[in-house]
Amino acid sequence: MRARVTNSPGVDRPDLSTLFAATADGIDVPTTATFAVLNPATEHVVGYAPSVTPDQLDGVFAAAERACQPWQSDEGARRQALHAAADAIDAATDELSGLLTAEQGKPLAEARSEFTRAAVWLRYFADLQLGHEDVPHLDGRAAVQRRPLGVVAAITPWNVPLVLAVWKIAPALRAGNTMVLKPSPFTPLTTLAVGHLLRRVLPAGVLNIIAGPDPLGAALVAHPTPRKVSFTGSTATGIKVAQAAAAGLKRVTLELGGNDPAIIFDDVDVTAIAETLFWNAFTNNGQICRAVKRVYAHESIHAELVEALATIAASTKVGDGSDPAVRLGPLNNPAQRDRVAELVRDALDHGATVAAGGRQPARPGYFYEPTILDNVTDGVRVVDEEQFGPVLPVVAFRDTADVIRSANRGPYGLTASVWSNDLDRARAVADQLDAGQVSLNVHGGGVVPHLPFGGHKLSGIGVENGPWGLDAYCDLRVITSAGR
Ligand code: NAD
Repeated sequence: MRARVTNSPGVDRPDLSTLFAATADGIDVPTTATFAVLNPATEHVVGYAPSVTPDQLDGVFAAAERACQPWQSDEGARRQALHAAADAIDAATDELSGLLTAEQGKPLAEARSEFTRAAVWLRYFADLQLGHEDVPHLDGRAAVQRRPLGVVAAITPWNVPLVLAVWKIAPALRAGNTMVLKPSPFTPLTTLAVGHLLRRVLPAGVLNIIAGPDPLGAALVAHPTPRKVSFTGSTATGIKVAQAAAAGLKRVTLELGGNDPAIIFDDVDVTAIAETLFWNAFTNNGQICRAVKRVYAHESIHAELVEALATIAASTKVGDGSDPAVRLGPLNNPAQRDRVAELVRDALDHGATVAAGGRQPARPGYFYEPTILDNVTDGVRVVDEEQFGPVLPVVAFRDTADVIRSANRGPYGLTASVWSNDLDRARAVADQLDAGQVSLNVHGGGVVPHLPFGGHKLSGIGVENGPWGLDAYCDLRVITSAGR
C-alpha cells in the first residue's frame, strides 16, 4: 500500500505521499497497513507512514546482507556515493523541510538547517580517511586494519530526525557497512522520503529505511543479522537495547538522555550572555539531548539572570513552525507536553516560582509556554530529571566546590558548560565535570562532525562523529606474517 499525505488546510505543499514508502533493496517494501503521523501544531494528520511488520524483517535484512560484499569492495565508489547523497539532500531542502516542520514541530528555518547539516555530515565522512596503522612487530611490522562489521541496525528519536539518522548513516556506510534504519513513529515521514530520494544514488540494499509502530524497534535489535545497533533515544529504552543486543554480542553505540548543567559565575556580563544561554536551552523547545537543562547561577548575579532569561522567554514568538516569524513551535507529542506540565506543577508544589511562562496555552497543538523557574534547588524533579522541554530551572549557588558537586549529581553525563570571563577558572571547573562534552561560555559548542559526541554514565555508551565515530562501525583486523 502506498502511504498518503494530507496537506493541512491553507498550506501549499506538493503531494509527497509517493516518497513515504519504506525502502528495502532499493524498492518499496510492500505493506498492508499504515499509521497516521500528526502535526503537533494542529493535531491534524500530516501523512500516513507504512507499517512494516516484524515478520518482514527477514527480507529487509537479507537485502542489506546481499549488498554488503560489493559495497565493501570499492572504497572510491562509497565516497562518491556519500557525496552524491549530500547533494541530493541539499537539493531536497525546499521540497522536504516543510514536511519536517509539519511532523516534528520545529520552525522552518531549523528544519532547513537539518538538511544543511545532514549534507555537511555526509561530506565530512565521505572525505574522512579510514584509519590504518603499520606498527613495529618483532623484527618487522604488523598491519592494523579497520574492517566493516556487516549489517548495522539504527534507531532514531523524534527530536532531530534527519540529522541524527545521518550521524549513523554517514560513518556506517563510509566504513563499508550496510544499514537498516528505523525512525521514531512520531516523525518517520522525512526520513522515509530521504530514503526514497537516496535510492537514486546508493546501490540497492545499502540503506534500507523502514517504519512502523513499536515493537518494530525491539524486533530490529533482536534480529540475528545486524552485527551492531546504533541507537539514539531515552536511557530507559537504551538499557533495553543493550540487554537485547547482549544476547547476540552485538556492538552498541547508545546516545541517550542528559540533564545538562550550565554553571554561570559571578564575573559574566549577564546582558551579554543571556540570549545565547536562552537559545542553548530553548532551541527546538529544549528537545535536544545537549540542551541546557538546569542553570546554576552564582548568587550575586542570579536575580539579574533570571530576569534577563524571563524577558527573553516572554518576548519569544511561539506558534506553528511554518510561520516564519515563529521562534518556538509546539512540543512534538502530547506525552512530552504533559511531562513538562507535570514537572512545572511539581516544582511549584515544592516552592518554585514562575518568572516567565508556566502555562499551556488554550489552543490546539502540543504547546507549552517557554518557562523560567526561580527558587528551585537540587532535589526537585525539574532539576534532577531530564525535562526535554521548554522549562528551565535557575538554581542559585555560592561555593564553587558545591556547584561542581551539584553539576555531577545524578545519573547523566552528556554535556555541560561553564560561563566566566576568567578562562583559567572556567577550564579548572570544566576539568572536574563528568560529561562527554564541556563548553566554555557557550553550551554544546563541540557538536560538529569532527569531534566525538557521547555521554558518560547513563547518557550512553560510545561516541558518534569524527574518526572515533567512524571506528565504532569497524572491527580491527591485525595482519602479521610468520617470524616478523
Ligand atoms: P525513545 O527511547 O522513546 O525512542 C527512541 C526510538 O526507540 C524510537 O524510534 C522508538 O520507536 C524506539 N524504541 C522504542 N522501544 C524500543 C525497544 N524496546 N527497542 C528498540 N527500539 C525501541 O526516545 P524518544 O522519546 O524518541 O527521544 C527522546 C530521548 O532521546 C531523550 O531522552 C533524549 O535525551 C534522547 N536523545 C539523546 C541524544 C544523544 O545524542 N545523546 C540525541 C537525541 C535524543
